[in-house]
Amino acid sequence: MPTAFITGITGQDGAYLAKFLLGKGYHVIGMIRRSASSDVIGERLRWLDVLDKVTLVDGNLTDLSSLIRLLQEHKPEEVYNLAAQSFVATSWQQPLVTGNVTGLGVVNMLEAVRIALPEARFYQASSSEMFGKVQAVPQSETTPFYPRSPYAAAKLYGHWMTVNYRESFGLHASSGILFNHESPLRGIEFVTRRITDGVARIKLGLKDRLTLGNTAAKRDWGHAGDYVEAMWLMLQQDAADDYVIATGRTASVEEFCRLSFAAAGLAMDDYIHTDPALLRPAEVELLLGDPGKAARVLGWKPRVSLEELAAEMVAADLKRLSR
Ligand code: NDP
Ligand code: GDP
Repeated sequence: MPTAFITGITGQDGAYLAKFLLGKGYHVIGMIRRSASSDVIGERLRWLDVLDKVTLVDGNLTDLSSLIRLLQEHKPEEVYNLAAQSFVATSWQQPLVTGNVTGLGVVNMLEAVRIALPEARFYQASSSEMFGKVQAVPQSETTPFYPRSPYAAAKLYGHWMTVNYRESFGLHASSGILFNHESPLRGIEFVTRRITDGVARIKLGLKDRLTLGNTAAKRDWGHAGDYVEAMWLMLQQDAADDYVIATGRTASVEEFCRLSFAAAGLAMDDYIHTDPALLRPAEVELLLGDPGKAARVLGWKPRVSLEELAAEMVAADLKRLSR
């Protein structure tokens, strides 16, 4: 039974990846950071019914010694580095934490692999935010980067360090440049979940409006369940490489709203308000990925449509709130 080590297992992707790998017969070790709320920290794993099937171990991406010890002890064949301060808006409020965890944290994990387990295969969770003020449409593995937030700058550092450790030390280190991916387990602060939670509250009479920032921004949104499969496929290749993972379809925040309200049988225009306080200091206006290389080399294709994604998220939020 192969062993996989996941940082960020309590997050959206960590939960889906854990479920996916368990289904493939892996022993899954998930690193969690010590928290006073440890009774609720496994909520996403519980939602997917895998909390009692994974082994949770204490560590922190900012503490290199903890990472080395964990790799020495568990000797995983595959390391998935998903942990990060992952919310763009927060990265302007906490640029140093973001740099420490989302940027330097990657180097801690790479160093731990290099020192303790250089034969392990390594996955880095890079981001389409690195394209930022996009230099070409659609964006592919060869599109130049132009980060527009402390988060994106930190991710770009982590991405290049992954490439560098592959080229310098021969690590089997791959970087997945994933476009936005969502699910019922998406953090509540991200726009899709903010929308589907808002729609569900309006539907249930708990709220009478939904306040958003820039509704013209466009994203290439996929389903997290589809995207974790791409992470695994990257680590099954003979040679490590970098891949864009996207659907190839872009839609505005407004469009995602319309689909979500429609899924609840409501007309969006009656409920949407905008608040300039929710605008960002610098915006990423348009993301659209070209997943051609992933299709060709990995044989990967997204399965869930945007309509299905919005409907699944609204249904899950209605279920949560009705409890
Ligand atoms: P989440 O925000 O849901 O999860 C982040 C995870 O990182 C949580 O488990 C969190 O733990 C953990 N974490 C944060 N800081 C530390 C730390 N110092 N030490 C150890 N663990 C830490 O993110 P997602 O699941 O959505 O995303 C997974 C990864 O993919 C992230 O790196 C994200 O930036 C990247 N990504 C995501 C995209 C998306 O659309 N979802 C798109 C492109 C990239 P805790 O529960 O304790 O907070
Ligand atoms: P991001 O692409 O990682 O920044 O993911 P988000 O879901 O946080 O934001 C996606 C887009 O939605 C960005 O362009 C935001 O400016 C825009 N947006 C509009 N209103 C909101 C809002 O109320 N919350 C968030 N998080 N984003 C919003």
